[in-house]
Amino acid sequence: MHLAWGEEEERFRAELGAFLDAHAPAEAIGRGMEPETHGGIPLWAREWQATLFDHGWLIPSYPPELGGRNATDVQTLVYFEELAARGIPRALHFPGHAIVAPSLLEFGTDAQRELVPAAIRGDTVWCIGMSEPGAGSDLAAMRTRATLDGDHFVVNGQKVWTSYAMWSQMCMLYVRTGDTDSKARGISVLILDMTTPGIDIRPLRQSAGGTDFAEVFFTDVVVPKENLIGEMNDGWRVTMGSLAHERAGLWLEWTGALDHVFRRTVDEARRVGALEDEVVRYRLMALYEEVGGLRALGYKGFASYEKSGAAPEHALLKLATSELRKRIAQLTNEIAPSPENRREVLGTFAGTIGGGTSEIQRNAIARVLGLPRGY
Ligand SMILES: Cc1cc2nc3c(=O)[nH]c(=O)nc-3n(C[C@H](O)[C@H](O)[C@H](O)COP(=O)(O)OP(=O)(O)OC[C@H]3O[C@@H](n4cnc5c(N)ncnc54)[C@H](O)[C@@H]3O)c2cc1C
Repeated sequence: MHLAWGEEEERFRAELGAFLDAHAPAEAIGRGMEPETHGGIPLWAREWQATLFDHGWLIPSYPPELGGRNATDVQTLVYFEELAARGIPRALHFPGHAIVAPSLLEFGTDAQRELVPAAIRGDTVWCIGMSEPGAGSDLAAMRTRATLDGDHFVVNGQKVWTSYAMWSQMCMLYVRTGDTDSKARGISVLILDMTTPGIDIRPLRQSAGGTDFAEVFFTDVVVPKENLIGEMNDGWRVTMGSLAHERAGLWLEWTGALDHVFRRTVDEARRVGALEDEVVRYRLMALYEEVGGLRALGYKGFASYEKSGAAPEHALLKLATSELRKRIAQLTNEIAPSPENRREVLGTFAGTIGGGTSEIQRNAIARVLGLPRGY
C-alpha cells in the first residue's frame, strides 16, 4: 500500500516549503517542536512568530487578519507535518495563540476580541492562571476569589505553575466568584493586566534548571468588570471550550517532537560508539516502532476527525507521546550520560504533568472505555 497526498496538498506543501526556505531563522531550524523557553522568550522566536503571522502561516486555518489563510483541515495537517519534518517550532509561548485567542473569539465581547491579533502574533505575551496549590488535577477546587464591587472585581488568592508569568503582559485568570463549595459552577474567567498593583510574581526554579513558571500572588487586585470573559460563574464552559480548539493536526507537533528527540538519541548513540551494541540497536528499534505506531494512530484519528468531527484516538496521544518521550530521554542518558542529557530527562516530566497528568489522562480514557471505577 502506498499512502500519499494529492496534487493540491503537495502544491500547498511546496508553497510552505518555499516560505520556510526563505524566512525560517537558523535558530528555529532543527530546534524541535517543544515550546520550552529555558529562561526567557528569545528575540528570534518573537520575530519568527510575527513573520509567520504576517505571511498567513501562523495558524493556517484562520483568516488572513488573524495570521492564517483559511486553510482546510487537511492543509493544516500538511502544515504541521512539514514543520515537524524540519523541526521548526511556530512559537515558544503558546497560551496566546492556542488558548486565549480561540477563547476570546468564542466567548469574548467585541472589545475583548480586539486583543486577539496581538495575542496570536505574540506582540502580547499571555499566561494562564488556572492551577493553585490545592487545585491542579481537581481544578474545580480553586479558591482564588474575585468579589464584584460596583464596576470592578477585587481579586485575592494565589496561582502556581503559571508558565511565562514573569514575561507576560496579560493573564487569563480563573477565579471563584460563586460560593466556596460551588465547584465548577462558581468559576469565572477574567482578563488581567499583569501591571496592575497587588500582583507578586515569584519565579520557580525547575529541577532541569530553567525558570519557565512562577507562583503568582494577588492582594486586592482591581480588575474592571468589562474584563469578564463570557458569563459570570460560567467559566467552566470557557475553560473546556478553550482547550478544544486547534486539535486537528496538533498531535503531529507531539509526534514530530518525538521524531526529533529520537533522531538525537541515534546521533548520541553513534557519537559514543553504542550503535555497535546489538542490545542498544534492539532497544532503539523498539522505540522507533513505538514512535511510528503513534504517528499512525494520529493519522487514523485525523481520518475519523475529518469524517465525523471526533477523534477518540487523540485522547491517547497526549498520554502516550509524553510517556514515550520520557523513556527515549532516559535511554539517551543511559547510553551517553552527560549533564545535558540528564537535564533532558528531568525536562520530560513536564509533558506528563502539564495540561493534565498521565494518571488523569488514564482516568479519562478509562471512563470513555466504560471501565469499572477502582475507587
Ligand atoms: C511544565 C508545566 C507547565 C504548567 N503551566 C501551567 C500554566 O501555565 N498555568 C496553570 O494554571 N497550570 C500550569 N501547570 C500546572 C498543571 O496543570 C498541574 O501541575 C497539573 O494539572 C497537576 O496538578 P498538580 O500539580 O496540582 O498535581 P495534583 O493534582 O496534586 O496531583 C498530584 C499527583 O496525584 C495524582 N492524582 C491527582 N488526582 C488523581 C486522581 N483523581 N486519580 C489518580 N491520580 C491522581 C496526579 O496524577 C499526580 O501524580 C503546569 C505544569 C507543568 C508541569
